Amino acid sequence: MTTGQPSPDAIVVGGGIIGCTLAYELQKRRIPTLLLEQGQIGREASWATAGIIGPPSGEDLPPHRADLAERSQKRYEGLFQSIAQDTRLDTSYLRIGKVLVAFTESEVEMAQARVNWQINHGFQASWIEPEDVREIEPTIPDNILGAYYTRDGGGLTGHRMTEAVADAFRNIGGHVMEYTAATGVLLDNDRVTGVDTPDGPIHAGIVVLCAGAWTRFFGPSIHRALPVAPVKGQMIGVTPESNGSRPRHVTGTISGGYVVPRVDGTVAVGASLEHRGFDKRVTARAFDHATTLMRKVSPALLEAQFTSAWAGLRPGTDDDTPIMGPVPGCKGLWISTGHFRTGIQLAPGSAVLIAEAVATGAADPLLEEFSLERFA
Ligand SMILES: Cc1cc2nc3c(=O)[nH]c(=O)nc-3n(C[C@H](O)[C@H](O)[C@H](O)COP(=O)(O)OP(=O)(O)OC[C@H]3O[C@@H](n4cnc5c(N)ncnc54)[C@H](O)[C@@H]3O)c2cc1C
Repeated sequence: MTTGQPSPDAIVVGGGIIGCTLAYELQKRRIPTLLLEQGQIGREASWATAGIIGPPSGEDLPPHRADLAERSQKRYEGLFQSIAQDTRLDTSYLRIGKVLVAFTESEVEMAQARVNWQINHGFQASWIEPEDVREIEPTIPDNILGAYYTRDGGGLTGHRMTEAVADAFRNIGGHVMEYTAATGVLLDNDRVTGVDTPDGPIHAGIVVLCAGAWTRFFGPSIHRALPVAPVKGQMIGVTPESNGSRPRHVTGTISGGYVVPRVDGTVAVGASLEHRGFDKRVTARAFDHATTLMRKVSPALLEAQFTSAWAGLRPGTDDDTPIMGPVPGCKGLWISTGHFRTGIQLAPGSAVLIAEAVATGAADPLLEEFSLERFA
């Protein structure tokens, strides 16, 4: 260890929502943890995110992904309470529910299947006939066949939530180093001993890679592929001038695409899905996608003042499923990434799965479904 640096038992690499919630859960289990972030906490995908959380779309997910999403959503309330005890920072969460409209018969079927799945799994959800939808969400146009509606969940501002978790982690004794990149994993034969940084090595017997879209760059240091790739998402922010044109709920189509009211009065609209490597430039495509969506689900927003546009890189995998668990052949090395389009949603459940396995040495069988081994 370099002089002046902490001597943690665990190092979490990556200060996005996945790394921060995991570091917090490890520290809560009395494992002294260091969180390393190459830039600032919560400034990558977890900043660009739409930040929607809520009951999972379990009807169209494989059972293990539905299980993780269900556990995460049920865990969120507890996480908010825990954070509130450990920090004064606001998580920015708006518990406003979600309305997703259906325009075609197949979308009606999809929406009704979602309602049934969620009710069967203990969530609140209902199907709303077209004549009743505008009572719940007056900004939606008339030409719809009905809507899925839930009062559960809502939206949060990703970087504020991530900063709040990181601050809670600090306040219970965790250590955060920003502007410190891990440049590789250190191994002694098949056992992890820490990470390298430009300022020298930092040693720990447990390292967890939560570096989002950048995780694959650790592959060479452990002599194996970490198949995570960036998937660009662009959004725009608008500020409605009247309350009448501001959606009351997270609003969208059942097939995807959302407008998300935020605590600062803006509404986030998007998001695109693009394979452009590590290119984070905002392009005209952000507007193309957003205006099409607003025209469909919330046309009054087309008159709202444009305030910002942004892009971020989701951590994608070949099967759109996170990679979580121990890294085979490297004792003490773990990975939690690849949460793609639902990393905010899945963060609490993912953090608990890994933290419990690290703390107790007994992994929940669910973790096996997310193993890196499936790409071997
Ligand atoms: C436009 C958009 C909309 C989205 N909407 C939603 C949504 O509504 N709901 C939802 O659940 N999800 C949504 N997502 C997905 C979600 O935001 C991501 O899945 C989630 O933020 C991923 O979190 P992460 O911590 O893995 O990655 P990141 O937030 O990208 O964090 C990874 C961190 O690792 C750091 N890092 C990388 N390499 C190193 C290194 N060598 N050393 C130290 N640090 C390193 C990076 O700087 C970064 O801060 C959206 C994403 C985008 C882009």
